[in-house]
This record gives sequence, C-alpha cells and structure tokens, in this order.
Amino acid sequence: MNATDIRQFDVEHLWHPYTSMANPLPAYVVESAEGVMLKLADGRELIDGMSSWWAAIHGYNQPRLNEAVVGQLNRMSHVMFGGITHEPAVELGKLLIELTPPSLNKVFLADSGSVAVEVAMKMAMQYQQAVGRPERHKFLTVRSGYHGDTFHAMSVCDPVTGMHSLFEGSLPRNFFAEAPACKFGDPWDESCIEQFSTLLRQHSESIAAVILEPIVQGAGGMRFYSPEYLKHVRQLCNEQNVLLVLDEIATGFGRTGKMFACEHAGVAPDIMCVGKALTGGYMTLGATLATDAIAEALGDQPFMHGPTFMANPLACAVAAESIRLLLSSPWETRVSKIEKALRDGLLECRDMRTVHDVRVLGAIGVVEMVDPVDVADLQQRFVDRGIWLRPFGRLVYTMPPFIIEPRELKALITGMVDTLREAAG
Ligand SMILES: *Cc1c(COP(=O)(O)O)cnc(C)c1O
Repeated sequence: MNATDIRQFDVEHLWHPYTSMANPLPAYVVESAEGVMLKLADGRELIDGMSSWWAAIHGYNQPRLNEAVVGQLNRMSHVMFGGITHEPAVELGKLLIELTPPSLNKVFLADSGSVAVEVAMKMAMQYQQAVGRPERHKFLTVRSGYHGDTFHAMSVCDPVTGMHSLFEGSLPRNFFAEAPACKFGDPWDESCIEQFSTLLRQHSESIAAVILEPIVQGAGGMRFYSPEYLKHVRQLCNEQNVLLVLDEIATGFGRTGKMFACEHAGVAPDIMCVGKALTGGYMTLGATLATDAIAEALGDQPFMHGPTFMANPLACAVAAESIRLLLSSPWETRVSKIEKALRDGLLECRDMRTVHDVRVLGAIGVVEMVDPVDVADLQQRFVDRGIWLRPFGRLVYTMPPFIIEPRELKALITGMVDTLREAAG
C-alpha cells in the first residue's frame, strides 16, 4: 500500500483517539521509527517530542528491547495466567517490587493504564468491605486530574475539563476537591490543603480511597503541585483510615526526575498504578501494586479481576528489559539535562502575548496558551519544522525520550518556540 491508500482507508474507517469519523483530523503516516525520530511515509523525519504519550523513554527500535521481545516470542508470545505462571511475569514482579516504595509487595499485572486504575479502585472497595466498612465505596480526588477512559476511571477525571461529560449521568458520583493551588517549587501554604482536608473529614465514612496523580497532573491540565500537598494528603488518609491510591502511570520511571513522583514527597501509597513507560512504549501493559496489608485484609476472598491477556509474556519481558535498561543508564543526568534545556529554551515564550504560563519539571515542558489552540493547524506547522508534538486544549507540551541528544533537543525546543511565535503573528 502506498501512503495515499493508507491515509484514504484510515480516514474512512479508523477511529483515532478523541476524534470524529465525520470530521477527522489529518493523520500522518509513520512508516518506521528509530531513536527519537519518526519517519513519515513521504520521507520526512520528525523529532518526537511526545515519547508516544509518555511511553517511549528509550526511543524507538531499541536493540535491547527488540531482543527481549524476539527472545520471548521464540519461547511463547502468550499463555493464560489463570493457574499458570512464567518467568517474564516473575522477573517483572521482582523489579517492580524492588523499584517501588518498600511497602508495596503485591503486583497485579493489568493490560493498560485505565485497567490498572479500575483494578486499584476495585481493590480499595474490596479492602473496605473486607475490613467491615462496606459503606466506604466512594473516592475523593482533586480537579484537573486524569485517570483513564474506562467507567470508574472516568468518574475520577476532572468533571469539567475531562473528556467525559457525555457520560456524567451514568458515572458513580465521587468527591472532588479543588486542584492543588500550591505550585511545585512555591513556598508551602497550609491553606492549600484546607478544602481537601474538610471534604475528606466530612465524608470519610463513605470514602474507600483518595486517588491522585502525584506531583504532576497530566492529561487533565499539565499542572505541577507542591510535594507538601501530597505529604498532607498521606497524613490525612492515615488519620481517616482511607487508602491512598497514587496513579504514577504518566509520572513513573523517571519522567519527573525521580523514579516515581511520590519520591518528591517521600510518601508511599497503599496502592500504586503504573503503565505508559512501563514497557518503554513497546506494548500495552499496566500494573497495580498494593501493600501486604491490603492483600492480607482480603484474606481468602479472591480479588475479582482477571483479564484474558493478564501478564502477557511479551509485554512482561519487554517491561523487565526496559526497567533494566533504565537502571543501567544515566537516566537522572539525562532527565536533569533535558529539564535544564527546556527551562532555558521555553522560558522565552513567557513574553508572547498568546502565552499564559510556561512550566518545566523533569523531562516535561509545558507552554500554557491564553486561548485553546487549533490543533490541526499547529500540528502542521510543527511537522513543517520537523518536530512531532500533539497539543490539546490550551496546552502545548513536550516530554521527549530520555535518550534525546542535545542537538535534537535544541531543534525540538527551537521548533516549538519559533512555531508559537509565528502562530502568534
Ligand atoms: C494515560 C493515563 C491513564 C490511562 O492509561 P491508558 O493506558 O491510556 O489506559 C491513567 N492515568 C494517567 C495518569 C495517565 O496519564
């Protein structure tokens, strides 16, 4: 098939994320990818500023990751996890338990981020039932959050900016505190936690768990908040016998400068969700980790979840190798170099009249515009400059692969800044 045929069928038949089939946005045909470059069918090459939505931290076509998949493929690509186990799952489980806070000792290997969140929420509800508090089945979260597109995950996404207002009537009703007002790096102000604290105290008798993205709120607004906020949340959850679920699906595996974002606050959750960069972006996989206390409380009661492709060996093998690769790489230096370059480069956007705010944390750079952007138009301009970015709403942001070279990073940032300046007119 040539690129025209591909685009033609695609536009007529294939849904893309959050798009209309009647009025589709143009899709670019990618033929292959290598390192940080996406190669388009027309021969152009783009520097990937998105890591395929936080996932491809080691870049594309990575020899060690390829080898992990191929090696596993030649043994078995999949086998059911009901009554069967295998080395890739055990290897991955070990690595996850070593890497995450010491209290997390039990692993559920789910098939995507949203499913990992569903699993976490079910686990919290089952836990409260098991300890004799079945009336605690709701969740408290903060606004501007994002936890996935399945139904219970949707019920804790931002009710306004979230993409799910159509389903409002059929979603469980949960509690929302204001988004954390205290920014990362700002001096802590006790009043930031007041409303959250009041809500939790008022409703703790009906709340199974608090669920949050630690430090970085991703798809719900790309906001970075104070680690003190998270510390206070942990304390309040302890006081009120409410579990704390931390959704590290976007932040996990080094993206914020720590292996997990909760390390900025020195807190450990009762349940943690990971996904996205877990497989280095190779395959779909999520995991939900829980404390021994949760597993023990469930006792003989089975945990009621079990997807067909649970612990898929190919995904587990590549995830284990991705973690080993990360640990053997100078990832902290790489992330802090990216952070510095993003800070130095993006800050000049602050002077543009179209720009509301610029913020950087770890290998994440965000330019928040005053008005919502025209995604198709801006994306075309980025592609013309040889970079790949996918803005949404008022947010133009980048989280490049950790392996990006200084020269590529400079081209990415310059392309971003120049495009925004040009679009500002
Ligand atoms: C992407 C994301 C999810 C959902 O993961 P999927 O793999 O897309 O289902 C959940 N939580 C956070 C914080 C995410 O960034």
